[in-house]
Amino acid sequence: STQFEIQGLKSSIEGKEILKGIDLKIGGGEVHAIMGPNGTGKSTLASALMGHPKYEVTDGSVTLNGEDVLEMGVDERARAGLFLAMQYPSEITGVTNADFLRSAINARREEGNEISLIKFVRQMEGKMKELEMNPEFMHRYLNEGFSGGEKKRNEILQMMMLDPKLVILDEIDSGLDIDALRIVAEGVNAMRAEDRGFLIITHYQRLLNYITPDFVHVMMQGRIVKSGGPELAQRLEAEGYDWVKEELGIVD
Ligand code: ADP
Ligand code: MG
Ligand code: MG
Repeated sequence: STQFEIQGLKSSIEGKEILKGIDLKIGGGEVHAIMGPNGTGKSTLASALMGHPKYEVTDGSVTLNGEDVLEMGVDERARAGLFLAMQYPSEITGVTNADFLRSAINARREEGNEISLIKFVRQMEGKMKELEMNPEFMHRYLNEGFSGGEKKRNEILQMMMLDPKLVILDEIDSGLDIDALRIVAEGVNAMRAEDRGFLIITHYQRLLNYITPDFVHVMMQGRIVKSGGPELAQRLEAEGYDWVKEELGIVD
């Protein structure tokens, strides 16, 4: 079963420390949610874990099934099974959705063991149907001209096709109407498995009505300051973040 472990992770952007020591353990089959006010470093955590060059790791360790993630390059991390659905997915002109996905899948496979075109197309069509995506999105350029909701569904499509071990969803709920939110959540729930962990970053509790987390963590000023179960998310939704600050004596 999957074991993902972050210990004492610190990260800086352009010399400014944003993550000030993050500890988090995600076991296989577990869904962890990270909630927190804007600007507290949630996306920084996601980017640092994926190896984005702008986010310098200055201390700590990250392991996936005992392997040192911080030693790996960006592509290696993806091959090892880390997947990030981004808050702001980028557009790539000239590369179709299908081309992009097929090369991503094949990059994770041994040479000579590439997925056949027919099998790939069948899988992609099936997943797109589950996500209620228009089939034409297969041949559209990656994210180009996609609406906010279409981009997010496309991120979930990538997740489903790539079969990752550790899934990070960064504000996948932003810009989604309620129907799209339900479809995205069903996609995620269908992917819950013993050998896969989830880290769901969200500003709002709404998504967690559809995807029930096992653990909820509150992030403030670059640290996880409080952890609990799903009831913690409900209290944050009802009362905001001020009570957490008061309880912990955090001044901002
Ligand atoms: P959150 O996702 O919790 O809203 P972020 O991780 O995006 O927070 O941002 C945390 C802090 O890091 C903020 O002060 C933000 O301005 C800063 N920051 C994030 N990304 C960058 C970047 N690429 N360049 C400069 N500053 C950044
Ligand atoms: Mg933000
Ligand atoms: Mg963010």
